[in-house]
Amino acid sequence: MLRVQQQHSLTHLNSFGFQSVAEYFFEIQNSTELPDLLTYCRQLKLPLLLLGGGSNVILSDRIPGVVALMAMKGQQIEFHDLHRVLLTVAAGESWHETVKYSLEQGCFGLENLALIPGTVGAAPVQNIGAYGVELKDRLSRVEVFDTQEQVMRWLSPSECHFGYRESIFKSIEAGRFIITQVEFSLTTHSDQLNLEYQALRETSEKYAAGDPITPLHVFDAVCYLRQQKLPNPADIGNAGSFFKNPRVNLQEYLQLKESFPDLVGFADGDAYKLAAGWLIEACGWKGKRLESVGVYEKQALVLVNRGGGNRQQIERIASAIQHDVEQRFAVRLEVEPRYYP
Ligand code: FAD
Ligand code: NAP
Repeated sequence: MLRVQQQHSLTHLNSFGFQSVAEYFFEIQNSTELPDLLTYCRQLKLPLLLLGGGSNVILSDRIPGVVALMAMKGQQIEFHDLHRVLLTVAAGESWHETVKYSLEQGCFGLENLALIPGTVGAAPVQNIGAYGVELKDRLSRVEVFDTQEQVMRWLSPSECHFGYRESIFKSIEAGRFIITQVEFSLTTHSDQLNLEYQALRETSEKYAAGDPITPLHVFDAVCYLRQQKLPNPADIGNAGSFFKNPRVNLQEYLQLKESFPDLVGFADGDAYKLAAGWLIEACGWKGKRLESVGVYEKQALVLVNRGGGNRQQIERIASAIQHDVEQRFAVRLEVEPRYYP
């Protein structure tokens, strides 16, 4: 028997801290509960929303249907060969604690992704990324419950169609798969570091103090840099970067660069990635407030709840920012977190 609760508050389960109530609420402790949960939703014709840490969602005050909190726990390490390690982690585990745990076991590769809020199961949904590393770079496979076929199966990285903050879980197959476990492919080599980002390289060097830089130095550097720049959702409600960094082609990039010589952009394959935070700041939005929400004063890409904000207010400020950036740079900013419903 499923223990479904009614009228359950989600206010402490979304990192914006918006007041929200789920019509029905259920905590998934084990993947064996999934078939019954699906049957329950189908029989009562209720939509299902999966929630991990709630750090990439924008919730309305009422969420119709069932909200299922991914609470499955557990991890397992298997040494594949001398240098390759397979780490399998249940969907409900904390992402940051998993990064810490992997390093404590002498398994490296996740250090650039430290301090990202949320759960392991949500990480493939937007192919989380930071400091030049994306989840897909360290992923071996993803275990899912396929709600269409009603079976558990493993998906390979190519089947997940990962892109920049994208995957099938967020796009073409949104709502079809419930991610139950993630298997990572990590290394015991401590010298395979990604230090492409200047600030990360410089801070890691400081932590290493003249010794060779290790994954633990990188982990400490990432935590330090993020704490300097990003608001802690426990203090100020937010969902991290609110917009994706837009892509333009070479010609568009050169035209923009001519008009705005300080523009921050990076070559990315045959396109250019523009720093959305720079575009927003250039439009004068950094630190501004509209009603009870605003733009964070240390990072213009982060929208914050100043207390008492809600989904409608975030939509209004996001539209105003999109409008201004489009008018000035002819570039459309795409929202990264998802609105519910
Ligand atoms: P939720 O917000 O609960 O859910 C996100 C989406 O995934 C929803 O659509 C939900 O339905 C779906 N989902 C959740 N669990 C599952 C599951 N098991 N199976 C299928 N679907 C599921 N993101 C980055 O990429 N890089 C960063 O550096 C980064 N930094 C951040 C910093 C801050 C301060 C904050 C607040 C957010 C940041 N984020 C970042 C965004 C966010 O932390 C990530 O997207 C994270 O993976 C979301 O995890 P979650 O458990 O909170 O997901
Ligand atoms: P930052 O290091 O100041 O960089 C600003 C922007 O420039 C970032 O958007 C980053 O792109 C890009 N960039 C910087 N150096 C680069 C390089 N060497 N090559 C390619 N692109 C480069 O950014 P920040 O705000 O302090 O964040 C640090 C990292 O954490 C970034 O990777 C950012 O994506 C990640 N982060 C993500 C979220 C989220 O919610 N998605 C929230 C906070 C931080 P990328 O964004 O593509 O890396």
